[in-house]
Amino acid sequence: MSKIIVTEDEGERLDIELEESIIRRNMLLAEENRRILDNYGIKAIDVMGATGSGKTTLIIQICKRLKDRYRIAVIKGDLTSSIDSDMILKEGVKSVQVNTGRECHLDASQIRKALEKLELSSLDLIFIENVGNLICPAEFPLGSHKRIVVISITEGPYTVIKHPFMFMDADIVVINKMDLAEAMKVDSDKLVQDIRSINPRANVVKAICRDGIGIDDIIHALNL
Ligand code: MG
Ligand code: ZN
Repeated sequence: MSKIIVTEDEGERLDIELEESIIRRNMLLAEENRRILDNYGIKAIDVMGATGSGKTTLIIQICKRLKDRYRIAVIKGDLTSSIDSDMILKEGVKSVQVNTGRECHLDASQIRKALEKLELSSLDLIFIENVGNLICPAEFPLGSHKRIVVISITEGPYTVIKHPFMFMDADIVVINKMDLAEAMKVDSDKLVQDIRSINPRANVVKAICRDGIGIDDIIHALNL
């Protein structure tokens, strides 16, 4: 049986142009966000990854270790729920919840609105937790200084090669839930290889975020 592949064609030209203008507009807004953050001397880090990969757990673990040294806020994108924000608030860290409704990613204009809700002069660090999604967040830079992608062993052996765009601009890739590698029969070194083949510059950290393993390496990779 032959392979049948459907690709974008001429008929979708207009859609593509519209999409390009949305992406360009987002880029300009992201640059503006960066200028605002730089003016206040704030470092922003955005965290992307699938639902359940461990983004919130990672942010909470980092906050636990850094909250006495830095003034931290978390901007949290979610379709509708505030489960994660509630967990973050328990750590005594400021949190702004952005409900994206049907949108499957955060964009720079939502971050701008969130920044307006924070007292920027009293902050050193902002973590941005993107909506759980390994596809479009890659196309929407937010103005952050570093991008972390979290994947977990439970996503299986092909999660990197199936989502190459997600890893291209990542500064740090966390391979989470390493304790499940044997049970899941996932070779984490192969995941590392896949990441390196897409983005040789990324820092790759193997972690068990829930247990605090690997968190110090991630903090080190963030220069914090
Ligand atoms: Mg979360
Ligand atoms: Zn999206």
